[in-house]
Amino acid sequence: MSAQEVQVKEIQLLINNQEVATDKYVEVRDPGRLTDVVGRVAQATVEHVNTAVEAAHSAFKTWRHSTLEERLEVLYKIENLLKDEGSELAATLSRENGVLYSTSLGEIDLAIRAVQATVKNAKSFFHPIIKEDGDSWVSIEKRPIGVVAGIVPWNAPMVLTIQKVAPAIVTGNTLVMKPSPNSPMGVSLVLKKIASFLPPGVINVIHGDAEVGSALNKHRHVRKISFTGGGQIAKYIMKDAADSLKNIHFELGGNDPAIVLDDADIDDIIPKIVGSAFRRSGQVCFAIKRVYVPENLYDTFYEKVCQFVDQYKVGHGLDEKATFAPVNNKNQYDQVNQLIERIKNSNAKIVQLGEKLDPENWDNGFYILPAVVRDVDPKQEIVTCEQFGPIIPLVSYQTEEEVVKMANDTEYGLGSSIWTGNFDRGLRIARQIEAGMTFINGSGQSHLGYELMPFGGVKQSGIGRENSEIGLTEFIEYHAINYHK
Ligand code: NAD
Repeated sequence: MSAQEVQVKEIQLLINNQEVATDKYVEVRDPGRLTDVVGRVAQATVEHVNTAVEAAHSAFKTWRHSTLEERLEVLYKIENLLKDEGSELAATLSRENGVLYSTSLGEIDLAIRAVQATVKNAKSFFHPIIKEDGDSWVSIEKRPIGVVAGIVPWNAPMVLTIQKVAPAIVTGNTLVMKPSPNSPMGVSLVLKKIASFLPPGVINVIHGDAEVGSALNKHRHVRKISFTGGGQIAKYIMKDAADSLKNIHFELGGNDPAIVLDDADIDDIIPKIVGSAFRRSGQVCFAIKRVYVPENLYDTFYEKVCQFVDQYKVGHGLDEKATFAPVNNKNQYDQVNQLIERIKNSNAKIVQLGEKLDPENWDNGFYILPAVVRDVDPKQEIVTCEQFGPIIPLVSYQTEEEVVKMANDTEYGLGSSIWTGNFDRGLRIARQIEAGMTFINGSGQSHLGYELMPFGGVKQSGIGRENSEIGLTEFIEYHAINYHK
């Protein structure tokens, strides 16, 4: 699909494997060409939410008794679906989300890896724990929880949805999913097909924003809320969940520090650091959000970062020449631009770099040139906030002790990275960082890391973990049985 072709997709709710039309539809516009309407999405009412939860509640009564083999069969079908339809889905994702087509293809690959890892982990996860002595027999059993509310953000909708659906299904739960209004189409198309592999009611999809999400979270038959998004919404969800004491799992925002040590090969690491910071135009929860550079390397590091960033070609996600895409939505666009203005009015120096590929279309999309900030105060907003956009601040430091303190001086604690020529030194510093994940000489999981690493944050970056065998425990309850002989 080229940037010029538009296919308007009409998306309904999905309840009990039936598509449900509603009285209200919301348009989805292409963030890189705002004059293009690319979809119309049915908006749910509270009654629709209730019907969807009842459908999931009813389906749970039988789905909970399905065998592991039956559930794995569904996961194999999901894997094949993503492989067969990946290129078309990627085009839809880029159209609604704004990201580069190559990034969307990469996201489909990640979703496939999430399914494969879930299959692998599930096979060893259910091994029974049964012990016996002369007096008694004990069995510790893993049971599904019930109806799971899955709420996802817009920034990487496909992989974040599959990371909830695959483990929830393989552990025998049923789901009501609520995609983000800012990227509802790709996931809805996939979820409709996944639902067809399952008995009616196992997967349901509703659309809407706060009112619909809140009704879902308050419903007494929802036993678990698995939420990926921002910390502010997580606080509302926690309040909504309190009345019926629901089990919650939060994957939230981050302000990931990258600590460059003085023994690092800066020519090697700059493309990796900038690549992480500006993946999806900076809209990744565990993207590098602040870079700490030793004072003696600071000027050289800054110059080289700017040279690298200046090579970006900012354009439409489906433009093959583009290497940098717009941000996703008006709120994001306004917040990042206002942040840039405040930096310009501070003592820090900000430069916006890169090339505008299609200047005539520039104001018809949420385009922002990538920016580098130097001479920044370590306590300045751009260092302490989750900018979630294409701006990277470089902070100078003198000692290891000082940089560890600065890295930890935050309520966030998702990812982090150390860049060094000395693994032992990197590991020593990594162990002092308050984060759910620390990468040494990389940013993001290796193949092995993706399979083994529980994904998530500490402090206000999250509660619980996704992915890996540990992530599966989010979707089960333990039932302990003790027979007194
Ligand atoms: P958001 O918190 O604004 O919205 C997330 C979802 O919550 C959306 O589907 C939204 O419709 C829904 N929602 C809004 N109000 C609600 C309410 N009252 N009750 C229930 N649901 C409600 O986040 P966003 O802007 O879509 O995404 C960006 C944020 O997500 C960033 O902070 C980013 O770091 C975070 N994120 C975290 C991870 C992670 O794995 N840790 C991954 C991706 C994104």
